[in-house]
Amino acid sequence: MEGILDCLRAICGPEHVSDALADRICYRRDCGPTPGGVPDIVVRPESTAEVMEIVKLANQVHKPVFLWGRATTFVDHGVREGCILMALDLMNRVHKIDLENQVVTAEAGAIWHAVDSELNKLGWELAAPGGGGMFSCTLGGTVAYNAVPHGITEYGMTGEHVASLEVVLADGTVLHTGSAANTDAPFPIERGANGPDLTGLFVGSCGTLGVITKVTMRIRRIPECERYLFYAFDRLDDAVDAAAAIQFQQAATFLIGLFGGPKPAGVEGEAFLHAIIRDSVAEAERRAQAVRVCCETFRGRWQDPEPTRRYWKEHMYSWLRNTPASAYYGNRPYCCPEVAGFLPTQALKEVIPALHEYVANNADFARVGMRVKGFDVYFSPNAAFLWVDTLYPEMDPEARQVGLRVRAEIAELLFSRWMSPGGIVSGMAPYIMPRLGTTYELLKRLKIALDPNNILNPGVLGLGGEDD
Ligand SMILES: Cc1cc2nc3c(=O)[nH]c(=O)nc-3n(C[C@H](O)[C@H](O)[C@H](O)COP(=O)(O)OP(=O)(O)OC[C@H]3O[C@@H](n4cnc5c(N)ncnc54)[C@H](O)[C@@H]3O)c2cc1C
Repeated sequence: MEGILDCLRAICGPEHVSDALADRICYRRDCGPTPGGVPDIVVRPESTAEVMEIVKLANQVHKPVFLWGRATTFVDHGVREGCILMALDLMNRVHKIDLENQVVTAEAGAIWHAVDSELNKLGWELAAPGGGGMFSCTLGGTVAYNAVPHGITEYGMTGEHVASLEVVLADGTVLHTGSAANTDAPFPIERGANGPDLTGLFVGSCGTLGVITKVTMRIRRIPECERYLFYAFDRLDDAVDAAAAIQFQQAATFLIGLFGGPKPAGVEGEAFLHAIIRDSVAEAERRAQAVRVCCETFRGRWQDPEPTRRYWKEHMYSWLRNTPASAYYGNRPYCCPEVAGFLPTQALKEVIPALHEYVANNADFARVGMRVKGFDVYFSPNAAFLWVDTLYPEMDPEARQVGLRVRAEIAELLFSRWMSPGGIVSGMAPYIMPRLGTTYELLKRLKIALDPNNILNPGVLGLGGEDD
């Protein structure tokens, strides 16, 4: 151990390496229910060159490395006991805002909202607005997880807006993807250049195939205006049909459905749709009219859209339910064993009743004080991303066991018939990876080819054979 510590201190400077228990235990877990192992060492590189040296060393001594953005995932990201934990928070510089080519390049540890704020000063924004964790999550972690961004209905997934990546592979090689791969013209402007889409290999790979050290994202001008709409429905099926019609009309920038959990304060109904539209004034008005027609055709009732506006401006979920955060989350710590994923929009008509039935038939819910936070849907351009968010009292060990069982049962229920998750990490991997058939086999072969010693994030996607 002393030898490894000395080497890491030589690479990063002693002030960026710690083996103190008080530091190490801070890096055990994400926002998910299960603490991972305690790392042996925490190291915080400041440059790509330092990352290269760290992974080379880890390979030499066969010690796993766990990559830490800001650990804002809700799924149990699975820190390996005794690993070198590489925290990327010091690699947070914005390298270049390139308005001419409409991209921004920043280091992987830069905070999503911090990069966006720099762009906002110039009247621009990241092409993917970021997920709800935007105020604390990093660019690298968000791309590695392929987080579901706000605005997905029009803008699509986070990964779609990555133009190029700089990645350090497990052997210390540095790779530039897309157009930046051409060593004679290394401009990070187009993902589709230079053959196979290697950017896509790292999007969603959760740090198992390489360390993302720089991200080049597409940017857009901030749209001229925003419109907000909020509708209540008495029947789930009507809300789903209205949502499908809005998708078909490509009318909303962001369409959110609330199909379980607390109802919006002061609003009658069984299902609710919030729509945010961002466009020129004329186009926004046309699209808002399309949303109104879709909702009212399916018996939706117009509501004051102030909660929609507050949600979008503050990115605080509770406003979707017309409730301040303090009242929404209650007065004791809860943990959210989340299960989330994509399914066909029309399948919601079966899935949501199945979830309500599951909760109604599960006596443990009431017994341990568990509750449904939401069966909420972010509609993508053509499908539904469903968040099944339950809450259990965090400090109660029995409630935690129930929470984990509920997560397993819901994952089993949904993944076996309707749904595929977005981000995976170790909490979801056991429920989905074995279902991926030849895709799983190919991913394992890629892992062996790129990381034969299983150094990078072992266990996170179950790609490392027996070891995982
Ligand atoms: C309040 C709140 C709201 C949220 N809302 C959303 C939402 O709307 N949509 C959504 O999808 N998620 C959401 N999340 C989850 C989370 O914010 C996102 O998944 C986030 O993008 C993860 O970023 P991170 O920097 O914290 O990554 P981490 O959690 O640190 O890492 C995620 C994974 O990527 C790996 N990794 C980290 N950095 C790198 C790197 N540089 N190179 C390679 N691998 C790396 C990690 O090892 C891990 O496997 C929310 C979280 C919070 C706290």
